Amino acid sequence: MINVVNIRKDFPVLTTTVYGNPLIYLDNAATTQKPECVIRTIDELYRTSNANIHRGVHFLSEKCTEKYEQAREKIRQFINAEKKSEIIFTSGTTGSINTVATSFGERFVSAGDEIILSEMEHHSNIVPWQLLCERKGAKIKIIPFDDKGILRIDLLDALINENTKIIAVTHASNVLGTINPIKQIVAKAHLYNIPVLVDGAQAAPHENVDVRDLDCDFYTFSGHKIYAPTGIGVLYGKEKMLEQMPPYQGGGDMISTVTFEKTTYAQLPLKFEAGTLNFIDAIAFGVAIDYINQTGRQNIINCEHKLLEYATQKLSAIEGLKIYGEAAEKVALVSFLLKDIHHLDTGMILDKKGIAVRTGTLCAEPLLTHFGKTGMVRASFAFYNTFDEIDVLCENLEKISLMFN
Ligand code: PMP
Repeated sequence: MINVVNIRKDFPVLTTTVYGNPLIYLDNAATTQKPECVIRTIDELYRTSNANIHRGVHFLSEKCTEKYEQAREKIRQFINAEKKSEIIFTSGTTGSINTVATSFGERFVSAGDEIILSEMEHHSNIVPWQLLCERKGAKIKIIPFDDKGILRIDLLDALINENTKIIAVTHASNVLGTINPIKQIVAKAHLYNIPVLVDGAQAAPHENVDVRDLDCDFYTFSGHKIYAPTGIGVLYGKEKMLEQMPPYQGGGDMISTVTFEKTTYAQLPLKFEAGTLNFIDAIAFGVAIDYINQTGRQNIINCEHKLLEYATQKLSAIEGLKIYGEAAEKVALVSFLLKDIHHLDTGMILDKKGIAVRTGTLCAEPLLTHFGKTGMVRASFAFYNTFDEIDVLCENLEKISLMFN
């Protein structure tokens, strides 16, 4: 069980006031707040241990290298990958997807090939594939979703053919909240020997992720959405896939030997970690994972499910409020519009009350187009949010509704 009063003490920013009101932070799908232990780790590392990893024989370099590799191991365990070498540190989900689109694309995609995405993808899981298609003369096909926000995987068979080279799909939608049946999608794709990349940016913070159980070929997520710092993320790839792919970038650390005639590459995972990685934040990422494990992942999941249930029920009771995304399995976020009030008006008025929600396209324009909308309001929750905060959100939405009458 989570004691929310105690948990909130771990997150210094939650005591902030905004325009004289206590901060109500409901923008967790964009980025989560950081616990004291993560903030302290970064501060301490720069004060006591900072030295570039992997290259030095001196004390501090070895210390940082050890901590960095320990963080990799923590992440391996967190997603139940088989090998540490399958965990690649990147700048975030976007960095991870671009790595695969470029490197996998370079090796396996040619003119006339096809890539399957879903209609509910974040721009980060659309644009890298479009860039690849432009370079290679390949094309994108789309799995649609229905009006409840449920993916029509019954249509997947009809989209697959001998030209399909990869399926890239989100584990959980950042707008609809829908948790997609990844295991089922992967099982189907593998019948045709098609690899699957899963965008786990919204699922990793809120659900159990077991990449071996999912059997996906790639899994990507960002540290900053899971209580770790910005600028650090993960690309999980099955060893047999990563081994076949060329390096994404060239530079230090990713090489074995270099001559002007020929370079040989380092073993995994370093083959995909060119240059000086964000090692301080990677170490702090490991500390965030420790914090999640200590709090209890299942406790976090249970707590967020209750918040989602409560918020859905309270928001649905507001006259004229429409929720987008009604799947039975959702992560803890609710996107909505209030009557025909502009999403920016709603967001700006809530802000003046200290309530932080996200407004706009939510980086998923094709998804919004499905509903004929150009913007929505999204409240997204973390386990440090409270039922009282949801009450304040709903009271203010009622007031906004009256104001615009
Ligand atoms: N995919 C999804 C589903 C997301 O929600 C986000 C972040 N909003 C991203 C990808 C991109 O993550 P990042 O900006 O951390 O690379």
